[in-house]
Amino acid sequence: MKKIALLTSGGDSPGMNAAIRSIVKTCLNKKIVPFGIFDGYQGMIDGRGKNMKYSDVDNIIQYGGTILGSARCKEFLEIEGRQKAIKFLKENEVEGLIVIGGDGTFTGAKILGQEMNIPIIGLPGTIDNDIYGTDYTIGFDTALNTVISAVDKIRDTASSHHRVFFVEVMGRDAGFIALYSAIASGAESVLIPEEITDIPRLVENIKNQNKGRRSTIILVAEGDDEGHALDIMNKVRPFLLEYDLRHSVLGHMQRGGSPSVQDRILATRMGNYAVDLLIENNSNITIGVRGTELITCSIAEAIKEHASPDLAYLKLIETLRTK
Ligand code: ATP
Repeated sequence: MKKIALLTSGGDSPGMNAAIRSIVKTCLNKKIVPFGIFDGYQGMIDGRGKNMKYSDVDNIIQYGGTILGSARCKEFLEIEGRQKAIKFLKENEVEGLIVIGGDGTFTGAKILGQEMNIPIIGLPGTIDNDIYGTDYTIGFDTALNTVISAVDKIRDTASSHHRVFFVEVMGRDAGFIALYSAIASGAESVLIPEEITDIPRLVENIKNQNKGRRSTIILVAEGDDEGHALDIMNKVRPFLLEYDLRHSVLGHMQRGGSPSVQDRILATRMGNYAVDLLIENNSNITIGVRGTELITCSIAEAIKEHASPDLAYLKLIETLRTK
């Protein structure tokens, strides 16, 4: 293996830079040329990439985002777009590819691998944690820390004014962020796509838990079946006229920020392992973590299966709710 290309794709996540740094440094130390492609599959189609040096990855481990840039690339969905990408990889004599991204990125990688004989390794980079074949994705832990720091602040003001707050967090298809941050912030309720939201029950819970308390926090995943935080607040309002209801959408701040220790270490280990796997002739697999061990899973399986949070966590919130 003489040359390995790498790219970041889909939504960015904190820790992608740590992964890039680890891949580049591992390659250079093993006398392999690391070839960075800009803006995900779009850069592959447009022919934008460069051989990377140690100096390219100096002082990047602490930054969120991705120095290579990322993109959602429609052209890559079509064979004509992918043919341009394949031409670019061949012209640059790329012998292995590492993609860092989510489900969509892995799907693109699988199709590319079928159309071009090139070994590909996928690293799970998404704040949503919704990738099969790993307990944690790169960026999830940082996003959780960002969310709980915001919810702690909302709690301060909610408590001062006896307010009920509906806080919306990211998670169109999965409730990992909402559920984990609900536990970590001591939220009274959480609404996630994996469970059907029962509005009358939510109203009862708010009434019960609000007795003698100065605030109530309800975390809402953006993909909840009853709608966004604002929709849900409006649905319960007629039954809670005496309550001061507010909502807050945390939005894109959840994607940014300096990566946590856990994300930096995870990304660094996974990046290093990806290069080793390519050197050992592995192909079409994703890397994950189970406990403290790094594991692998076929790309096909990773995109076929759906990752869901442990619903025992919901029960834990229920058990701890003030009765
Ligand atoms: P996120 O967690 O942020 O959603 P993601 O990797 O799932 O990350 P997507 O936008 O779904 O983000 O996918 C990234 C890119 O992968 C797409 O913009 C597209 O270029 C490519 N891709 C996704 N699905 C396919 C597909 N079916 N065929 C070819 N390429 C695809």
